[in-house]
Amino acid sequence: MNVNSEILMAKKEEMKIVTDLIKECKRCSLYKSRKNPVNGFGSLDSKVVFIGEAPGRNEDFQGKPFVGRAGKILDDLLKSINLERSKVFIGNILKCRPPNNRNPLKKEIDSCTDYLDKQLKIIKPKIIAPLGNFSSIYILNKYGFKAEKISKIHGKVFEKNTSFGSLKIIPLFHPAVAVYNSNKTQILIKDFKIIKELL
Ligand code: URA
Repeated sequence: MNVNSEILMAKKEEMKIVTDLIKECKRCSLYKSRKNPVNGFGSLDSKVVFIGEAPGRNEDFQGKPFVGRAGKILDDLLKSINLERSKVFIGNILKCRPPNNRNPLKKEIDSCTDYLDKQLKIIKPKIIAPLGNFSSIYILNKYGFKAEKISKIHGKVFEKNTSFGSLKIIPLFHPAVAVYNSNKTQILIKDFKIIKELL
């Protein structure tokens, strides 16, 4: 076994511990109404991690992130820069679906994002692309940046030196905004190209 496959094995073991913790989690009340927690999906070797807001109805059913309409758009955007879903990591700031897809509450974000922090520590990405306002605020604040509205900061590159090397954060519009708005689709396509250039 070479060094890279040993690292990947270790990452898988560490991620399993986090996944098991999420399954048992009762830190907020969302566990009562959700069907399945959505831990995240993809390659633990990935240089880029996409972070959405919270599971919706389809994700709650399947236990996987971005498998509904917004997920179809995300897949198309990934394809537009020749990235496969299985080669990147896709997660959310909340692991459980808020009832009726309401916005995440501060106390839910505060209790859940410890899992995302652990996941990022395991993956050690070079690029984090938060999708939408909630995720962008969380990630930018986490790395010491002031977050502004996503309409102002989408596609900007924020650089930070971390314990695992240089990290670039590129806030993007949430793909759900493109469901009924083709202008937003064009902006997302353009912003995704920035990720391609940086990879
Ligand atoms: N929207 C999100 O933010 N995350 C998902 O997993 C699905 C839709």
